Amino acid sequence: MLELNGIDKSYGTRKVLDGVTFTVGDGRMTGFVGGNGAGKTTTMRIILGVLSSDAGTVTLQGSPITAADRRRFGYMPEERGLYPKMKVLEQIVYFARLHGWKADAAKKNATELLERLGLGERLNDTVESLSLGNQQRAQIAAALVHRPEVLVLDEPFSGLDPIAVETVQSVLTDYAAGGAPVLFSSHQLDIVERLCDDLVIIAGGQIRASGSRDELRDAHGSTRYELLLN
Ligand code: ATP
Repeated sequence: MLELNGIDKSYGTRKVLDGVTFTVGDGRMTGFVGGNGAGKTTTMRIILGVLSSDAGTVTLQGSPITAADRRRFGYMPEERGLYPKMKVLEQIVYFARLHGWKADAAKKNATELLERLGLGERLNDTVESLSLGNQQRAQIAAALVHRPEVLVLDEPFSGLDPIAVETVQSVLTDYAAGGAPVLFSSHQLDIVERLCDDLVIIAGGQIRASGSRDELRDAHGSTRYELLLN
């Protein structure tokens, strides 16, 4: 379980996270929803230790996260980080190798994952030759290829067509079914509602609601979650 407790963060005098507290359960697809500037990316960067918080704790399976724990995460950053000139398969193998995988196992896993994500025909094409949606699929492969214990994905569904949304959803759902906590951000409530087990709703740096999709539906059925996003 990934647990955030009382996370505060200010940029200068501006507080952008205020007591952010929520959990991402093992095997749970957890949608992190909020409008532009709500604080999703800042929260994810703090989870990964890319950014430090002013207060609060982040723990994984009950222990504080250290720099060495970053290897346990699969992270898809908001600013996509693929090398445009590299070939797709080569790129994903490279990420697995960075995590210490042997060449053969890295190639096998990268190939299977890319095929599953619908990029089986594009393995030897350069990243820059792919459409943005396909680059995004490759980016998801990059986050998953080393089989991390936890997945943290910043807007993995943005810009994908409905078929790609389904493909990515099935890959992520299967990953969560293997026991990993999966946290993904989105500003598209309809997608999140459809895909997640649990929801965390953030607005103005504060958590407005969190819990299972069904619990939240019962609690906020008449107002709908939209009102919580403002
Ligand atoms: P979006 O969906 O637009 O990416 P978000 O929910 O991911 O939004 P954040 O990127 O975490 O939101 O931003 C939260 C707030 O912090 C915003 O008001 C943003 O302008 C501010 N912010 C983010 N990064 C910085 C920075 N480096 N310096 C100053 N302010 C920042």
